Amino acid sequence: MRRLIIAGNWKMNKSVTESMELARKLKMKLLGEADLIIIVCPPFVSLQPLAELLKGGNIHLGAQNMYWEEQGAFTGEISPKMLLSIGVEYVILGHSERRKYFGETDETVNKKIKKALELGLKPIVCIGETLEQREEGKTLEVLERQLTEGLKEVEIDDPFNIVIAYEPIWAIGTGRNATPEQAQEAHHFIRELLGKIYGAEKAEGLTLQYGGSVKPDNARDLLIQEDVDGALVGGASLDTFNFSSIIESGKEVFQKKPCYHY
Ligand code: PEP
Repeated sequence: MRRLIIAGNWKMNKSVTESMELARKLKMKLLGEADLIIIVCPPFVSLQPLAELLKGGNIHLGAQNMYWEEQGAFTGEISPKMLLSIGVEYVILGHSERRKYFGETDETVNKKIKKALELGLKPIVCIGETLEQREEGKTLEVLERQLTEGLKEVEIDDPFNIVIAYEPIWAIGTGRNATPEQAQEAHHFIRELLGKIYGAEKAEGLTLQYGGSVKPDNARDLLIQEDVDGALVGGASLDTFNFSSIIESGKEVFQKKPCYHY
C-alpha cells in the first residue's frame, strides 16, 4: 500500500498575511478530507504562523529547503532541527530551481536527504530532465543519475518517510505538462530503479509525485496513471479553487486505484 500525496509549493510567493489567508481558506475547505495527504510548503517566514493556524486540521506543513547541518556558522541557512521544532513534517529537496539558481547538486541534495531522514523530517526529493536532455533521448539516464547519486547510502526504513517527485524541468511553470504517458513512463522507470536499490516491496510503498504545470483540467489524467501517486503543484497551489480542485481529482483517483491507504 502507498499514500497519495498532493503538495503545494508556494515558492517565493505570498506575504505572511497572504499565506495565512490562503491557509485559512484551505483549512476550511479541506476539513474532513480523509483519503489523501495534503501538504503546503510556504516560504520560511510563514511556516510558524501556519503551523499554529493549521493545528487541528488535516493539512501538513512542508518547507522548501533546509541545510544539512544542525546548527552553526552558516549565515542565511535554516536547519532541519529548526523546522522540526515548529512542527514542519516535510521538506522539498533538490527542486530544479534550487539546482539552477543556487548551485545545488546531487551531492548536496544527498547530504540534505540523509540529514532530514536522520532527524525525522520527510524529504520530497525532486528530480527531472531539461527539455534538451529529453530531446536528446537522455531522460531516463538523467533520472537514474539524479536518483542514484541523490540517494547514495540513503537508508529507507519506512517508505512513508520519503517522497520522490518527478518534475520535468520543461514542464515547470510553463503551462506545458508532461502527457500522462510520459509521466507514467518516467514514474515506472523510477519505481523499477528504486526496486533494484531497496527491493520491490519498499519501492511499491513509495509515493512518486508528478510535478510540472499540474492544473485542475489535467490532474485527473495524470494521477490515474498506475505509478503516479500524487502531485507537487506550483502555480495552481496559490489559489484555493485550483488547489482544491486538484485535490478533488486526487480523491476520485484514490477510490479508483486499489493501491492506496491514508
Ligand atoms: C514546481 O515548482 O514544483 C511546479 C511543479 O511548478 P508548476 O506547477 O507551477 O509548474
